[in-house]
Formats: sequence, C-alpha cells, structure tokens
Amino acid sequence: MGRINIAIDGPSAAGKSTIAKMLGSRLNYIHLDSGAMYRCTAYKADQMGLDIEDEAAICKMLEDTSIVLTENGDVILDGTCVSKEIRTDAISQLASRVSKLEKVRADLVARQMEMAKDKGFIMDGRDIGTVVLKDAEVKVFLTATARARAMRRLKQNNDQQIATSDLETIEKEIEERDYRDTHRAASPLKKADDAVEIDSSNLCAEEVLDAIYALVLEKIQKEDF
Ligand code: C5P
Repeated sequence: MGRINIAIDGPSAAGKSTIAKMLGSRLNYIHLDSGAMYRCTAYKADQMGLDIEDEAAICKMLEDTSIVLTENGDVILDGTCVSKEIRTDAISQLASRVSKLEKVRADLVARQMEMAKDKGFIMDGRDIGTVVLKDAEVKVFLTATARARAMRRLKQNNDQQIATSDLETIEKEIEERDYRDTHRAASPLKKADDAVEIDSSNLCAEEVLDAIYALVLEKIQKEDF
C-alpha cells in the first residue's frame, strides 16, 4: 500500500498530538509535532533572556539552533532532550506569542517542509493543511469546546507530572491562545477548504482515531496510492 501525508490542525489541546501519535503507530507513519518547534523556540529565547517579540533577535538565535523531532517522539533542542521542559503552561503562552512573528514562522515552516518532503508523515499544528503540507492527501481539522480541552490538558499535565494551573486558569489560557492563534496576521489558525472537521468534545481518543483512520483508508483505496 502506498503512503500519503496527513495534516492535522486545530486549536490548542484538541488532542492533535495524542491522535497523531496513535495514528502513527497504527499506520507505521512518522509523527511530526510542529508545535514542539515553536515551543523549543520560545524555550530557548526565554533561557537566553530575549524579548519574546523581538523578531530580529529570535531569528538570529534560530540561525544557530537545531531542533530534532525523533521517531519515538522526543524533542531534541541543540542536542539536549527538552520533551518535558517545553510542555509547561508558561512555555505554551510564550510559544503562542513567538508564533505570531512572520520571519520565525518562515524559518520553522521551511524546516517542517523539509522534514516531510517524502510521504508517510502525520504532521500536527495550526497551519499544516493551509501552508506547510498544502498537498497532504488527508487533512483533518480537530476541534473541541474550550472546557473539554482544558479538562484534557489538566489530566495530561497530572498524568505526566507537569506543573499545572487549575482548570479555570487552563481554560482561560486556552481561550487566550485560541484568540491569538486565530487573529494573528501570519498564517492564522483556520480550517483548510479541503479539510474534514471533527469535533472531539464528546468522543474518546479511539473514536477520533477510527474516524481519521477511515478517511485515510478511503483515500488510499480510492486513489490507489
Ligand atoms: O500545538 P502546541 O500547543 O504545542 O503549539 C504551541 C503553540 O505554537 C501554539 O499555541 C501556536 O501558537 C503555535 N503553533 C503554530 N503553528 C503550528 C504549531 C504551533 O503557530 N503549526
């Protein structure tokens, strides 16, 4: 069976990475979490004491920055594993702010295009179906209510023993990130015209996975990949 590329976009904490990871194991595809790259950028800029909105300084920093997404899901920043460090609520907020910067996006988008230039990738993010992998054969726009997403994020933080705020604060932060992600000038979060929207508020992960898997099978069989 031939291979395709799959783009999964949607707002913060909609379960994109969880689903993409599960789908990756089911299809034996590689999952690329593009948000981790914005998180690494924010994390390093913060460590270096840079102003998170100083586009020139952050682009300069990126010239000398390596970000590797490994096949087993680890995130390696300049040779050091930062998988856990980049998941805090504070870095979520900084990542959302740094992702507004057009030249920072251009740098990371070019890296993402290069990573998935062949087939057999599942990339999740905000602009994958609209910008990074415009020719992805399957595009999904995964949504859920802010409350449902906040509850999942809280559970994930607790399960992974990541320092966390309470439910109300997480929900408020998710809404703030939604606002920034959908209102920024550079590649705002929006559903690609050819994406299938799935509202996961009342679905468990397996149900979402099955729905996307069915789309993939349909595509592969119909188009004879
Ligand atoms: O997906 P995740 O929540 O880890 O992404 C962190 C932040 O990075 C998001 O809030 C968003 O602002 C930004 N992002 C983006 N484009 C992507 C992926 C993430 O702007 N493709």
